[in-house]
Amino acid sequence: MSLIELNKRQEEILQIVKGNGPITGEQIAERLHLTRATLRPDLAILTMAGFLDARPRVGYFYSGKKPGQDISETMNNMKVGDFQSIPVVVREDVSVYDAISQMFLDDVGTLFVVDKKSFLTGVLSRKDLLRTSLGNQDLSTIPVHIIMTRMPNVTFCFKNEPLIQAAHRLINQQIDALPVVIEQPEGLKVIGRLTKTNITRAFLSLSESHEL
Ligand code: ADP
Repeated sequence: MSLIELNKRQEEILQIVKGNGPITGEQIAERLHLTRATLRPDLAILTMAGFLDARPRVGYFYSGKKPGQDISETMNNMKVGDFQSIPVVVREDVSVYDAISQMFLDDVGTLFVVDKKSFLTGVLSRKDLLRTSLGNQDLSTIPVHIIMTRMPNVTFCFKNEPLIQAAHRLINQQIDALPVVIEQPEGLKVIGRLTKTNITRAFLSLSESHEL
């Protein structure tokens, strides 16, 4: 069994919570001059490892427990929502030209495509756009819905799903990103983006939190 070793930021968080708990994630972030989103993976690790307890609408407090969780247990507790990024979406009637610009502007490799009501209709990867660019003169006249991978063939995941499950899906389907969605009667609303980079980041935070 690997005992947990905290990184500097996780130690700082622990000290703040010990001295000030219960305290919200927002307040911890403020004290560290960081955003709540930046802290999310550290808070997730500290909670999963048993250092901190979290209560909805109350905040984090020091559990006082001696952490002794092994790495596979921590890994099984990691959720998509703890590591997801902000999604970048485009409407299905935007042109391939504009989608390429959007990809550069937002520095992402995958765009999610939505209809007028913001329901997920498709996915656009870098290669989808590259393929269309080859031999096509006027990319501003081709709407993305013609070239995207469309529903129901889009692979997605949920915020509360184990991260490991989503990682399996990325590898099995040989894709770079999954939209994180909420199911509604009329369709799927996109609330996040889970990429191979997020999985790599989770992998690193795991190694930082354990004696590896
Ligand atoms: P790239 O093609 O740039 O290497 P991907 O490997 O992610 O990027 O995409 C490969 C193909 O799979 C593309 O045609 C893309 O539209 C499709 N694709 C990407 N993400 C998904 C997804 N979440 N669900 C279904 N198809 C996807």
